Amino acid sequence: MTVRHRDGIHFERETDPRPSVVADARSAVGSINVVSHAHADHTFRTTPDTVVCSAETAAIAEARTGTGFEFVESAPGVDLVPAGHVVGSRAALFDLEAPDGDVRRYCYTGDFSTRDRCYLEGFDPDAIDADVLVMETTYGLPKYRFPSQADLEAEITDWIHDNDDRPLFLFGYSLGRAQKLQWIAREATGSSGGAGASDDDGNGSNDCAREILVSDSIRDVNEAIEAATDGRLAFPGRPYESLRGLTDEIVILPSNQARADWVEAAVERENALKAGFSGWAVDDSFPYRGNYDVTFPLTDHCDFDELLETVRAIDPEVVYTHHGFDEAFADRLETEHGYRARPLKRDQTTLEEFY
Ligand SMILES: [Zn+2]
Repeated sequence: MTVRHRDGIHFERETDPRPSVVADARSAVGSINVVSHAHADHTFRTTPDTVVCSAETAAIAEARTGTGFEFVESAPGVDLVPAGHVVGSRAALFDLEAPDGDVRRYCYTGDFSTRDRCYLEGFDPDAIDADVLVMETTYGLPKYRFPSQADLEAEITDWIHDNDDRPLFLFGYSLGRAQKLQWIAREATGSSGGAGASDDDGNGSNDCAREILVSDSIRDVNEAIEAATDGRLAFPGRPYESLRGLTDEIVILPSNQARADWVEAAVERENALKAGFSGWAVDDSFPYRGNYDVTFPLTDHCDFDELLETVRAIDPEVVYTHHGFDEAFADRLETEHGYRARPLKRDQTTLEEFY
């Protein structure tokens, strides 16, 4: 059995005409095709026979791309478990037979986070039993260690309270970060009624709700999630008509707009502050990338320690890493922690039998 990073991740046997499992690819060429979550870089462009994914992922992907696809939430020999990355995200567990006839259990994480955050439960590596772990390693360097979720949310809340007399522009991905920012902003401003009543900073700023405004693209994702979860989740952001005459509104925008001319003009005109939210906030260059006044390492991925804890908890025979610092993390797993580990370099053939 060979694991390759091609278009998505392929699990294939040399003797078979098609890969046994293909995960997060644009072309669904596997016997089994898995979509871990609805971020654009993880969804099929062609229509496969059947996709294995959560109902939430199928609904959100359809709402974002305009095309639906057939899906099943489980297939013979394939189990999905919550991956804690965005609503509907799943890791896949499946058994495959090696050339020596041994059956090994694989865990493909997709993008994942072990933290419980806002409305999302984290991935639970303690519940996973696998011989081979294929994991994303976006933040696979020790410098990417983030504060606890509670500390992060408290810092963000304090910053919102400290700046209650001017508009705030918050930037995050439309699917994932943008909903968590709405959630945190609602809690911080007391507009959910009662939350945050025990604040001990004594400034009493919870008594008036601030309006939470979002872009149309974020509103579309909100609606897709609300529909996909039968209203179990609901987000407070109201689409803005214009960004003129703001007073103390909290405006949440896609991070790719952070340096757009119309954003910079609105920030200047409305005397607003800009905040960026990403694990990359640990890098010195991050504030410049979005021209942010303040940044917070709020993320939907594991930090370095959480990646390491995941490997320890699952304790597989072999680890394959991909994305971000895949090489450095695999190297560290081998040299410092005694695991067999290898980065999956895109389009690079495995050089030895390394199932
Ligand atoms: Zn993702």
